[in-house]
Amino acid sequence: MTSPIVVPRPAATVILARDTNDGIEVFMVQRTTEVVFAKGMHVFPGGGLDPTDHHDEIASLCVGLTDATASNALGIDKGGLAYWIAAIRECFEEAGLLLGYRHDNELVQLAEHEALRLSDLRSALAENKITFVDVLKAEQFRVATDKIAYYSHWITMPGRPKRYDTRFFVAQAPVGQVAKQDDYETVGHRWIRPADAIEKSRLGEIDLMFPTIKTLESLARFATVQDLLDYARTPKPKQLMAPRTGTGRDGKPEILIPGDYAYAELGKIDAAGVGVGKTYIEPGVAVEIAPNVLRVTASNPGMMTGPGTNSYLIGNHDTGIAVIDPGPPLAEHIDALLKAARGSIKWILCTHTHLDHSPATLELKARTGATVYGMPPPPYPNQDQTFAPDVKVTHQQALQVAGATLRVIHTPGHASNQVCYLHETERLMFTGDHIMQGSTVVISPPDGNMATYLASLRLLFDEKIDFLAPGHGFLMDKPTEAVERILVHRQDRENKVVAALRTFKQPVSLEELVPVAYKDTAEKLHKVAMRSLFAHLQKLVEEQRVVFANERWLLKH
Ligand SMILES: [Zn+2]
Repeated sequence: MTSPIVVPRPAATVILARDTNDGIEVFMVQRTTEVVFAKGMHVFPGGGLDPTDHHDEIASLCVGLTDATASNALGIDKGGLAYWIAAIRECFEEAGLLLGYRHDNELVQLAEHEALRLSDLRSALAENKITFVDVLKAEQFRVATDKIAYYSHWITMPGRPKRYDTRFFVAQAPVGQVAKQDDYETVGHRWIRPADAIEKSRLGEIDLMFPTIKTLESLARFATVQDLLDYARTPKPKQLMAPRTGTGRDGKPEILIPGDYAYAELGKIDAAGVGVGKTYIEPGVAVEIAPNVLRVTASNPGMMTGPGTNSYLIGNHDTGIAVIDPGPPLAEHIDALLKAARGSIKWILCTHTHLDHSPATLELKARTGATVYGMPPPPYPNQDQTFAPDVKVTHQQALQVAGATLRVIHTPGHASNQVCYLHETERLMFTGDHIMQGSTVVISPPDGNMATYLASLRLLFDEKIDFLAPGHGFLMDKPTEAVERILVHRQDRENKVVAALRTFKQPVSLEELVPVAYKDTAEKLHKVAMRSLFAHLQKLVEEQRVVFANERWLLKH
């Protein structure tokens, strides 16, 4: 029996930070081993939202924030203010630190007699005899909701018995207050530099949960509390951090976050978070990435091919099988394709004819009699001249193969004959090398063309696509964002090329220009970068911004 996915409970956490001569320190409490969740762990103060956090009465005691502005900041319709209140309430309950204003509008600083009185109120609150509003009213305090800033959003992964939908906040530590654990849920506390906390966890001296480690890593970037607050207050959507788990190379579960290569794929092939997906690509092993769609990766990993070239098999016994990109002519890979196919291979489709994508077509066609689709190879030595399609595909042609409609999108740029195939019902696009995961696609003139490439990227904005299935790497989600990232990256590189050209008063050769324009790139990649640099220069020449003569380039002023 499969257990239902647990709905995450809304929660709030606050990271109190203070400046020291050695960078910022953050406040952490240690949870007791008597609790179910995060037993004995070091955490930031926080916890689940309480029904009282939603009351109108407490909302009226919040400074500088309404439910509308708070909800807007969190990207929810309503109820946002309760997260701010919960963060401040939990901080008071667990650590005795109160982010509040006194009746004279000064921030709460606790003289000894006040601290004692508040300590009694805190005990009564812990025993549920009074509410947080009662505490505030007794002291004529208001909640300093203007002093904490929304920092990040984490959701516990599926498959866990307790799940939280947690908003993290950051704040300057209140001055003139001394923390004290509640000796109930929390048994200790400390101020610690984020990097030191990570190191202690590595050494096994303290226990940290995965989101805490990742949060500490992100906090280690900030030199001062002001930097941290400025970052948090910059209006921008926060990346939802919803970790996912898969099986790593060592056979053990591995936790991934957005940005990790296998992250999007795990969400698609293992929505329940059972851990059946793998966090690595294993050559020759079929992975079902969508209903009736398998990926089999060739064992040709490398600098230009990532984990290896992906071949995709679409269809089943009833429909017959279509293979997209049979890959390099490796006998073991062709055998793996034939073995993985859940039916007879009737169609072979190629995205382009670089030597790692199409050469196995010859052998696979010989062994299956399949019909070959694609565009013929352009006349260059890095192209597979054995590739001879039975059907020459054209832009926007709809192919009915293997029970699916695959629409051809001609996307020249990486190669002049590069096409993508869009599986319309799965909203899944097989991109070949138009977009690959984890590295920049090489644009190598004369067949490659930068301006054409950028125009072809924009073609994808017109299509309904949920996932990209690249020629190299895992499934990628959010195609629009992926394309925008590439466009920004290319523009950024072009700016660097122009800036590099500007440093030369005389016409300059590729060899002289590459170390300047690609000084942020490892030197061993400069030879490959030279091809893309050439492509950028060609675009600038086409735009008449750069003059080219005698193998040298000069920026027009
Ligand atoms: Zn290619």
